[in-house]
Amino acid sequence: MSYRYDPENIFAKILRGEIPCQKVLETEHSLAFRDIAPQAPHHVLVIPKGAYVCYEHFAAEATDAEILDFTRAIGEVCRIEAISPGAGGAGYRLISNCGTHGMQEVPHLHVHVLGGRVLGRMLTAKREAG
Ligand code: AMP
Repeated sequence: MSYRYDPENIFAKILRGEIPCQKVLETEHSLAFRDIAPQAPHHVLVIPKGAYVCYEHFAAEATDAEILDFTRAIGEVCRIEAISPGAGGAGYRLISNCGTHGMQEVPHLHVHVLGGRVLGRMLTAKREAG
């Protein structure tokens, strides 16, 4: 399996400090920042610092340390945003889009952390051919 990573994608530019972000959390291997077009009162993107296109690319090729760090960073963001039911919050949704069918816009792995309102059912788009 081979993945082609585009180093000019917008999240790579954020990681290189070429464009700004509203940082929520930074760890050794991960960065979390606010989505520029929030879909909910809390909308944070968590990305690994490594050059991974999507989730299964990361799962296959990231080191154990990167995977542990990324997983913990997502949990930490839920706590920072106070949406974690374990800390009195009302819950959240994690989304990671991949490829054309997943309607991924930015080809650098990211997990959307969404919360702060009832988010509705998981999928609303009508089934389309293809
Ligand atoms: P996706 O469709 O899963 O690839 O989502 C990409 C997300 O990145 C969208 O929700 C955009 O609003 C968000 N986004 C694009 N550019 C930026 C940026 N410069 N800073 C923060 N979020 C961004």
